[in-house]
Amino acid sequence: MKKFDLNSIVRDNIKKMVPYASARSEFKGKADIYLDANENSMGSATEVLYNRYPDPYQLKLKESIAKLKNAEVEQIFLGNGSDEPIDILYRVFCRPGIDNVILNPPTYGMYEVSANINDVEVRNIPLTENYQLDCNKILSAIDQNTKLIFICCPNNPTATPVKAKDIFTILNAFNGIVILDEAYIDFASYSSLMPELKNYPNLVILQTFSKAWGLAGLRMGMCFASKEIIYFMNKVKPPYNISGLTQATVLNAIENKFKIDAYIKEIIEERKVLENEFKSIRYINTILPSEANFILVKVDDAKKLYQFLVAKGIIVRDRSKNILCEGGIRITVGTKKENEALINALKEFQK
Ligand SMILES: *Cc1c(COP(=O)(O)O)cnc(C)c1O
Repeated sequence: MKKFDLNSIVRDNIKKMVPYASARSEFKGKADIYLDANENSMGSATEVLYNRYPDPYQLKLKESIAKLKNAEVEQIFLGNGSDEPIDILYRVFCRPGIDNVILNPPTYGMYEVSANINDVEVRNIPLTENYQLDCNKILSAIDQNTKLIFICCPNNPTATPVKAKDIFTILNAFNGIVILDEAYIDFASYSSLMPELKNYPNLVILQTFSKAWGLAGLRMGMCFASKEIIYFMNKVKPPYNISGLTQATVLNAIENKFKIDAYIKEIIEERKVLENEFKSIRYINTILPSEANFILVKVDDAKKLYQFLVAKGIIVRDRSKNILCEGGIRITVGTKKENEALINALKEFQK
């Protein structure tokens, strides 16, 4: 392929712009008296003080994440959920009304929503019947205005993986950015492509604290890429995009990682229990093999089952309108007790 040239695909206005200089990015050292940021020097209305602006680049937290993920601090971007890096990637690379991106439905809805917000054309190349990337079609959909290709692996809402070999094919052939969303990688039987960042300057990997780490309520998404890509993302981000409370809490969570390892193990065990139980339910026609913390099943009448479960106080996700998901109900793995209640309800629906 043509040599990947980052500068040629970053929007001109982003290359030229001068980023906002916050008080905390202009003075980085330690001082006794801070009178530079119009904070309330007296204190805050809470017991724990939050009167000071947080570190705009979250260095302490990034050092901890760098160790955890075997990455360099400069290769990390942290966002208010994964939604923020997704939106920022659009704004760094895609010219509204001109550029396009390639998605592989059925997949995570935010890629398309973010494209619409940014007035970027979406080229949908559905997965194959086996939920794999349709490499030939993807490659022929690329033109000189294609800037991003999103790949979700394990994929939401199918919980299935795509082949790494196909991801490499696209990385090698595409002179744009490949965004690999690994939100569910902690539940997968295979490893992250993080070690490939050094081989592919056009690879961007998304991970999150919302799933395995159990911190969805905090909003903390991770983005890993070359330091050149991260440099442009930092130019575009809001100055203080991660609150001090979030930074401190996530730092603490990483110190307690053993808890997460236990949760992951338990979730995978419960996933197996659910898969086995589903096999004995007549109206479940397909159980997609899951690499995530949820399972997509296909049933005779998804809408009716969904409503039956709602009436039982159990909420699942009706994905039957998505392409390749006809009759599809997406079920998150719950606690042992919750899963038993679900199975009982599913059996009752059968009668
Ligand atoms: C849940 C999920 C995320 C995480 O989103 P956050 O904004 O970090 O909570 C990212 N990608 C996919 C595919 C998801 O399903």
